[in-house]
Amino acid sequence: MYSASPERYSSGMKYRRCGQSGILLPEISLGLWHNFGSVDTFDNSQKMAHYAFDNGIIHFDLANNYGPVYGSAEETFGQIMKKSFAPYRDELFISTKAGHEMWQGPYGEWGSRKYLMSSLDQSLKRMNLDYVDIFYSHRFDPNTPLEETLQALVDIVRQGKALYVGISKYPYEAARFAYHYLKQRDVRCLLYQGRYNIFNREPEQEQILQQAKENGSGFIAFSPLAQGLLTNRYLQGIPDDSRIARGGFLKKEQLTNDVLQKIEQLNKMALERGQTLAEMALAWVLKDDLVTSVIIGASSVQQMKDNLKGLENCQFTAEELRLINRIIL
Ligand code: NDP
Repeated sequence: MYSASPERYSSGMKYRRCGQSGILLPEISLGLWHNFGSVDTFDNSQKMAHYAFDNGIIHFDLANNYGPVYGSAEETFGQIMKKSFAPYRDELFISTKAGHEMWQGPYGEWGSRKYLMSSLDQSLKRMNLDYVDIFYSHRFDPNTPLEETLQALVDIVRQGKALYVGISKYPYEAARFAYHYLKQRDVRCLLYQGRYNIFNREPEQEQILQQAKENGSGFIAFSPLAQGLLTNRYLQGIPDDSRIARGGFLKKEQLTNDVLQKIEQLNKMALERGQTLAEMALAWVLKDDLVTSVIIGASSVQQMKDNLKGLENCQFTAEELRLINRIIL
């Protein structure tokens, strides 16, 4: 029987307020995109979930199609809910999403009301939950009227199936419409989820970070380690158990000589700061208050331990920030 650590809120985790809302998220959240599917070892997934909660990581980020196979990460989490986390439900902040391909046919992806509503019902069953804390539209659908997608989010909250709603990967103009539409209906959009890391500056360049702040929304960063590139994982070649070797979304072609050289230079800089590259990469995303939390992926408890250490130093001098930019750009 699992019993949560009594020290889970005194182990050093800090919580940041999400926009203008009552939501407080841990600086590090755990994502279940990889390593929690039916192809993975349940024991390892469970150990990581327990380790997370025992260290104050109360936010678990899921989506309908995380696995592989689709739906299986939610099922794994549902098992952990039942076996371990049920007594702690009120302490947990759990998200899921719908938008990407989930099942066959015209209602198995994108942003229709029919897809969002039925997908969330399926997710709740798989996760053994009555409600999720936040439900996201996982991507902007250029063909469905945005009002339809957003009204589905409003109605999901009214039905009590989600407490809050958010958007992920929406372009600036669509996000602007979403913030406005939802605010007018008293169901504010409180979290924008986007890819943000030392290599990928899109949320800065496209003003998404600033826009979230101005609209009283938080911003939560996914792939803060660029799926493992911003770590020491690939410095000595491609390990057999790595995401690249296992044939996930990170492709061997992305690890070019140029990228590798940048990783080596960043790694050197991290060591000079007394951090691993993973720690420095997470600290960089969390360096100011435009980001509420980073969602890490991890394939072992050891990686999670390393990542948590990153929180000990999120300060960068102006010179260090300039040096990082010089290495990257
Ligand atoms: P990361 O950028 O954190 O990459 C995670 C990978 O990095 C791990 O699987 C591991 O790779 C490696 N890693 C992690 N920590 C360390 C360490 N300390 N040392 C060495 N290697 C390390 O995040 P993800 O790309 O996994 O994304 C995180 C979450 O964000 C997802 O689970 C999901 O919840 C969310 N997300 C949302 C998206 C959206 O569209 N809204 C899209 C993508 C992700 P390895 O497996 O090789 O060990």
